[in-house]
Order: sequence, then structure tokens, then C-alpha cells
Amino acid sequence: MSHTFTFNNDQAYQHLLDLIAVPGLSGCEDRVANVVMEKLISCGCRPEWIFFDDAHHKISSEFNVGNLIVKLPGNVAGARKLFVSHLDTVPICKGAVPIREKGRVINQVGTGLGGDDRTGVACLVTLIESILTNKLPHPPLTFLFTIAEEIGLLGARTVDIGDLGHPEFAFNIDSGVPEHFITSAIGADRWEVEIHGKSAHAGVHPEDGVSALLIAAIAITDVEKQGYFGKVTKKHGRGSSNVGIINGGDATNQVNDYIYVKGESRSANPLFIDEITMTYKNAFNVAAGGVKNNRGTHGSITFSSWRDYDPFKINKRSKLALFSHDIARHIGFKPKFIHVEGGLDANALNAKNIPTITLGAGQHNAHTINEYVDINEYYKGCLLAGYLAVN
Ligand SMILES: [Zn+2]
Repeated sequence: MSHTFTFNNDQAYQHLLDLIAVPGLSGCEDRVANVVMEKLISCGCRPEWIFFDDAHHKISSEFNVGNLIVKLPGNVAGARKLFVSHLDTVPICKGAVPIREKGRVINQVGTGLGGDDRTGVACLVTLIESILTNKLPHPPLTFLFTIAEEIGLLGARTVDIGDLGHPEFAFNIDSGVPEHFITSAIGADRWEVEIHGKSAHAGVHPEDGVSALLIAAIAITDVEKQGYFGKVTKKHGRGSSNVGIINGGDATNQVNDYIYVKGESRSANPLFIDEITMTYKNAFNVAAGGVKNNRGTHGSITFSSWRDYDPFKINKRSKLALFSHDIARHIGFKPKFIHVEGGLDANALNAKNIPTITLGAGQHNAHTINEYVDINEYYKGCLLAGYLAVN
């Protein structure tokens, strides 16, 4: 821990405001990516150190830009480290107008702010700017600005670790309190089911119909009775589940013959995620078999599920955990290792065998209209990330 990191608070603050003001919903990150690139070029980052990968082509033809990757060659020996933040914000943040109020950045209009994760993006811009303008000694560093984090970590899942230069470990700046190191997080499945019934005139011959909606209602109620709906606490496992989307139906006078349901299952234990998802699948199957018309015809389902991201847990005695802890203590922080119940780009990177810790740079109340950034915490996040980079 021989190297010192300093940065300019006013410039760091300006980066944050500039970046929050640029829209960038998932799949439409090109504008914010370009602002990041312009800022980096103007602080002395060489164009040949900056490139975009083709993540967007692997995800969807509708997406307008890939992950932005910046690779600084080291000027001291050492293993390459990776720093990550995500460019996209959730739809509620569209149109945000950031302003300062006392020690916070808040939003002037009634939308989400987008401090998730523009705090992380601005923190990494500040970090690169400070390293280059102050000519700080540093090992080789890679900076990854991901796309599509908010819709399933798609940019981080798609990134090629060769493009990242095979880093030894990583820091993801995408949380609130800088001293809280996220060393474990849950994993999640998403699942969807199409329920097929049989239509009939609801007033004249309802007995001829098989109601897809009734199948959905019975199945979901059954899952709840078994204790797998919402918060799930069993002797052998814990997690949560949710039914988030139900679509279907055309008319009140017609027995409903098609319903689409989409939900998710979460747990820190991958086997328990499977168990929750299978409980839904079985319940829909049983319900479809049990709802019949007067001729004994019953409903049917098509169920599919996929692992959105795997859970992870960083060993507290690992090199990454000990290094992070030591650096934080060195600059007077009181580090704490914590667990979160949500998915992060860190889930995807840990699954690629890049041990990744997530830390905060002042974002709070993410995904709500009460979102704000604590400016002091943002500066602390910049300082911590800087020390982690140069040592
Ligand atoms: Zn985030």
C-alpha cells in the first residue's frame, strides 16, 4: 500500500451531474457511452485504449451499442484489475433532471434519478481522469462499462474475458455505502408459462369451455398454500418468488382460453432456486389437468424457465477480500462484508471465474422516484475505488 490516490472533487461532481442528465435505458446506451468516451479522450485517454465489444449483436438486433471497455497499460508491475459499472438505467429514470440539494443530488422532476448506476460510471471516469492527469503509478487496469444490466446482466454475461485482458479480480461500483463490500448475492430463475384452455360462449355454454384463467388462479393459490409464494422459508432452504406479469383475455362473454404468466424464483442456494421453480411448474401442470369441461377435456401448459444469474459468495480469506479490507482500513474506512438479495454484474463476472466484490458510491433508493445520491458517499466511493486501483 505504497501509492496514494487523489482526485478533484469538483470535477468528480461535474462528471456525476453530466452523466445522470444523459438518458440511457437498457438497449439504448449509445449516448451515455459516447459521453463517457468523450470525457476520457479529453483527459488524455488514448483512443487505442478504448473499444466497444459486440455484446449488443449477441443480445438483440434492437440494441444500439456494445459494452465499452477501456484498458490502461500498467506503469508498475502487477496483476491486471478490473473495474465495472453499468451504463443503463431503469425506465423510471427517463427524463431525470439532477439538481443539488444540500448534501444530495436529487431529481427536479418526478422520475427516478439514475444514480444507479451513474454514480459508478462517474466514479470510474473520475478514477481514470485522476490516474492520467496526475500520472499516478498503477498496475494494468481494465474498465468495463456494461450495457443491459437492469434487464438481466446481459452485457456482463456476454462479455469475453479475453477482451478484458484476463483480470485477476474485479470491483463493481454499483451500490450505496462505500464501506459495505458486497461479497455474496442471491441467484435467480425467470420462468414463463403459457396456459391453453378452450373457449366457449360464457353465457350460453360455459360448460363447454376450459378456463385458462381459472387454471392460473388455482396454480398460483396452490403455490401459496405450499409456502413457495413471496418470501419462502423452509427448513432446508430460503428464497423468494414472485408472479409479476399476467396477460390474456379478449372479452367477458367468452371463456378465457389463453393466459401468459411470467415470474421469478430467487435464492442463495442454486438447488433451492430449482425447487421453487419446479413447484410452480408442477402446480401449473396439476391445475391444467384438473380444470375440465363437460366432455372431460382439460387444459394444457407450456412451461419454460432459465437461470438469469447464479448466486456467488466470495471467501472472506481470499486475496480479493483481504486486499479490499486492508485498503479500506488504510484510508480510515470501517469495511463490512455484506450479502444482498438482488442480482449484480458481479454475479455474471463471478460465474466467469473473475472474483468480484461490489462497493458503493452513494446511490440510494434505486428504482424509485425517491432516488438520490449522497455526495459525500460518492466522493468516498471515488477515493476507495482509486486506492484499490493504484495499489
Ligand atoms: Zn445498478
